[in-house]
Amino acid sequence: MLNVFQKIKCPPKVEDLIKIELNQLPKIQGNTIKDREIRRLKSYSDLIQRYIDFVKSFPRLDDLHPFYKESIEIYAGKNIGEIKNCLAITSRASLNAIIILKKYIGLIKKLDESNSNKLMRQGFGRASSILRQKKDCIDWLIDLAKTLRKMKYIDPELPTVIVAGAPNVGKSTLVTKISSGKPEIANYPFTTRDIHVGHFYIRENQIQVIDTPGILDRPNSQRNQIERKAINALKNLKGIVVFLFDVSKQALYSPEEQINILKDTLTLSKKIIIAINKIDEMHKEYYDKVIEYLNKSNLDFTEISAEKEIGIDKLKEKILKLLAEEYELI
Ligand code: GDP
Repeated sequence: MLNVFQKIKCPPKVEDLIKIELNQLPKIQGNTIKDREIRRLKSYSDLIQRYIDFVKSFPRLDDLHPFYKESIEIYAGKNIGEIKNCLAITSRASLNAIIILKKYIGLIKKLDESNSNKLMRQGFGRASSILRQKKDCIDWLIDLAKTLRKMKYIDPELPTVIVAGAPNVGKSTLVTKISSGKPEIANYPFTTRDIHVGHFYIRENQIQVIDTPGILDRPNSQRNQIERKAINALKNLKGIVVFLFDVSKQALYSPEEQINILKDTLTLSKKIIIAINKIDEMHKEYYDKVIEYLNKSNLDFTEISAEKEIGIDKLKEKILKLLAEEYELI
């Protein structure tokens, strides 16, 4: 699943493709004038074939994991049906352009040599104009494919620990501390910030851990439509949530605001572990407010310092226990 988008073969955009061929034309020579012009059109046809290969290399959109489907729709601002339509348009336009080129190759073969160069230029022009007519669609698809390739790091099939909480609470620090290697940086269409994706192992089981900048870090009421959709995409990851509170004096969000974000996160209907972070720089007033709410709501919690690595082992134990309840780990 992880590499489905890696296989996409991205071609140049329409104007670039035409330019590449225009630069190539003078370099293509032949034994006769006819031969030369035929070779030129064949070379253009091979280049256009890259659009057909591009469409073929796309993973079947209907078979994609719902996480990817939703992520693609968010980025594209179009639904899967419209994207499929664009793929079909690209394929058809390229095929038509190739057919035109074949037709002109036939004419060059048939007619007198004095017509060859003119026919080559006509064929080239007509094929280019077919592509140009569908340029918006083709170029847009190429941009989409480039974004999809960058989305490779999150594997929706893996058991996932989603680290949530207000901005600056220490989410990415925690991802780094509980991952066995250096987390990768993934760009996702639904957030302007980079998502950190790390991994650790429970025996043979690979577990993925991600933070959620710009997604699960503000109250629902302030979220725009894209963010709400992004939350839906996250819902499609199999996983548990670790929710962080920042109780240091430097906290960017007040305890009340952080509690509101927790309330929204609880609606994700995922199993959740609550951790109070920055316990090394705890501000008593903030800490007391958070504790009061958690106790009142009968919510269990653990205290950590992601940076100073306090309480991380205990948090990890809780994570393992919850994951073991959720998945059949081997
Ligand atoms: P994110 O925006 O939630 O991903 O937060 P970051 O992981 O980027 O951390 C924000 C800031 O908090 C950084 O300057 C971290 O060094 C700091 N930080 C993270 N965890 C702790 C902690 O346990 N204690 C203290 N004192 N600072 C921390």
